[in-house]
Amino acid sequence: MARIISYCLLGIVLAGCFSESSKPKHNILFVSILPLKYFADKIAGDNFHVEVTVPPGAGPETYSPTPKQMIMLNEAQAYFSIGYLGFEQVWLANFKSSNSKLRIFASSNNLDLISENHHHDGEPQLLKGVDPHIWSSPKCARIIAENICSGMIEIDPVNKDQYQKNLIHLLSEINTVDSTVTNLLKHITSKKFIIFHPALGYFARDYGLEQLSIEFEGKIPSPKHLQRVIDAAKKEHIRFILIQKEFDKENAEIIAKEINSSIIQIDPLDYNWPEQMIDIARKLSETPK
Ligand SMILES: [Zn+2]
Repeated sequence: MARIISYCLLGIVLAGCFSESSKPKHNILFVSILPLKYFADKIAGDNFHVEVTVPPGAGPETYSPTPKQMIMLNEAQAYFSIGYLGFEQVWLANFKSSNSKLRIFASSNNLDLISENHHHDGEPQLLKGVDPHIWSSPKCARIIAENICSGMIEIDPVNKDQYQKNLIHLLSEINTVDSTVTNLLKHITSKKFIIFHPALGYFARDYGLEQLSIEFEGKIPSPKHLQRVIDAAKKEHIRFILIQKEFDKENAEIIAKEINSSIIQIDPLDYNWPEQMIDIARKLSETPK
């Protein structure tokens, strides 16, 4: 009897496991980076399992898919890209050729894009002329969220109302982030800031700031460019350098020493998008002048 009960229990446990693992199999969506996963999770609710191609702590610069990701990509229904990241230019065509049912949506549609030659070290230089960091601005995030929502409705029209309702919640969260950022930046003394890699172009544009990047067009700077940044920092009394978590601090430290400034870490590629946007605004407003 005890054995029958334990077999039954085993059966229930196994059934549980299989239904757990088989459920997302047909409801997988992929996104390129973690902030997109944040938006997609909010809109999808429990209807889709959202996978991210670039894992936490990694940069999109050196990405290539793992075998496990390739298996999941073959099961996935859709891929939400940024549209201008170098690895997307290389890999999206491959993903599509191994899974012809994969729908690809660019979350940058309808956005007012910034023209800039922007290259990440290690990335193939295929697309020139667009700053890809669209997620680093609450004002852009609204359009990204709307794009993700329309994509989900296209894949799963039956649940349209639910996605639209989730979008409204997300948009109100984005609005709160936007007004918090606006308030934090109100009393900022210098509109210019220095950043190692130019990841805050949209943030700067949308809040009336000016980003001075140590890298030039996303590449190692020339001595001439470095001197320009150092001169500007001295003239504007900028006393800090922002650097993204996944970048090596060594080069920034050399310049920090030169202009007697501190290095402040930011993480715009983190999953917790609202927290990161507010953190960046807070750091810009509180940094030593
Ligand atoms: Zn970049």
